[in-house]
Amino acid sequence: MIIREGKSVFKGVAIGSIFVYKKAGKAVNKETVENPAAELKRFEAAKAKAMEQLKGLYEKALRDVGEEEAMIFDVHQMLLDDLDYNDSIKGIIESEQMNAEYAVFMTCEQFAAMFLSMDDDYMRGRAADIKDISERVISILNGTQVSPEAMPEPVIIVAEDLAPSETVQFEKDKLLALVTQKGSANSHTAILARTMNIPSLVTTDIEIDQEYHGRMSVVDGFAGLLYIDPDEITLTKLQEKKRRADEQRALLQEMKGKETVTQSGKHIHLYSNIGGPQDVDAVLENDSEGIGLFRSEFLYLGRDSYPTEEEQFEAYKNVVSRMNGKKVIIRTLDIGADKQADYFEIPTEENPALGFRAIRICLTREEVFKTQLRALYRASAFGTLSIMFPMIISVKEVLRIKEIVEEVKLELDRSDIAYGNVELGIMIETPAAAVISDLLAPHVDFFSIGSNDLSQYTLAIDRQNQSLDNFFDPHHEAILRLIQMTIENAHKNGAWCGICGELGADMELTAKFIQMGIDELSVSPGYTLELRKHIREC
Ligand code: PEP
Ligand code: MG
Repeated sequence: MIIREGKSVFKGVAIGSIFVYKKAGKAVNKETVENPAAELKRFEAAKAKAMEQLKGLYEKALRDVGEEEAMIFDVHQMLLDDLDYNDSIKGIIESEQMNAEYAVFMTCEQFAAMFLSMDDDYMRGRAADIKDISERVISILNGTQVSPEAMPEPVIIVAEDLAPSETVQFEKDKLLALVTQKGSANSHTAILARTMNIPSLVTTDIEIDQEYHGRMSVVDGFAGLLYIDPDEITLTKLQEKKRRADEQRALLQEMKGKETVTQSGKHIHLYSNIGGPQDVDAVLENDSEGIGLFRSEFLYLGRDSYPTEEEQFEAYKNVVSRMNGKKVIIRTLDIGADKQADYFEIPTEENPALGFRAIRICLTREEVFKTQLRALYRASAFGTLSIMFPMIISVKEVLRIKEIVEEVKLELDRSDIAYGNVELGIMIETPAAAVISDLLAPHVDFFSIGSNDLSQYTLAIDRQNQSLDNFFDPHHEAILRLIQMTIENAHKNGAWCGICGELGADMELTAKFIQMGIDELSVSPGYTLELRKHIREC
């Protein structure tokens, strides 16, 4: 039995086998091979596996979404079998004696460039497909594939670190737990794990070794321990712990349908944080009263191009409709810092957390912003939708945002497109915003305090840097004073104020927040019922 220790970011016990996740390296190694025939065999085997996966995807899409959508996987199979494409790969392996990954990569580059140089839009679009199939083959060759087909059953992911764009690729029902060597409790990957309700350890002293792949293990999110090949006695104990945890969770079910009120009768709006439509089930299962933060940037991650207005509209409409009239607060895209998407082409920055991110991108690239706003306003016709804006530091920004919002509404009016009555709010997550919250409040309907960033900027402690954990005090008086000030300034100006950062779920502070006058707390769906119970005892 091997035991490794980490910092738990979500409690619970998971039992299952390990999937060692290695980053899909952007750069493909160029290596000379001594045995081109064997290399050719490796390529053929990877190609056969990719073909099998594409067939499976075609059938799944045919069942789930229909023939038209499924066609793309048919096209991918044809491209992968294309004679010229295969001849080029074989040629590089045989005559240049190169490794298969490099041969596929070089062929992909040539073919994609050729497609891109064509006049026809349809043919130009095939460049992305060539990249897609080539990346599939390369990731099979170098063992970095994380597609659901590569994970036949739910697994415990063990990785060096996980960027949010990587975490969003995993299919939720294929994940039992996340264990990373790096990471920090406030990182977006930890937040995603909490949203998905799965035990998760960061800063774990584990080697990222393929040796662990497939081995039976247990993640104990209460003790912060990972057991690999647990002995019988340990396994029995942990199974019992899991049973008790499940029982506790079941007990909380009695909180469903109850009001979130304190002993003195103050109602707190108890909402959920989500990353996308896939999390709405958890929101409903936990009887949350609304969605206090939909991190819309997750719709932009893990893909090669901007989501279209239509795609976004469908996602927002889906969430708003399923919430059936309950409030849904969608935050406009907060890309940048640790949430990176290559196609945004954000120049490398010395200090991305203080860089070109969130509202700064939206106010610079107005078309990207307007596309999202149009999708949001269109979706607002299907329920109760509010919009909030991240990383605000000035009144000037808020005024400009409101001008752009008016332009979008005017465009929709001209096209006779219906939209609802949308509340507008801002995140208070920079010390600047908290300090001038008296000046900001008259311009908005609500404030939502982003304690994760507010803490990072107030304490000058990078939320991604686990080595500073000893200096990080989430209950620091400076943070609490800024929160108090923000709530007071909201109320003086007739706005309401909530907390959607992780501090909202910190039950050591709940009573204090209620005393300060907080109106809303928005937390990971898995914390809802426990927090309701706690508030009812306050
Ligand atoms: C925050 O900063 O507290 C917040 C809710 O936003 P995010 O964690 O996505 O930066
Ligand atoms: Mg933030």
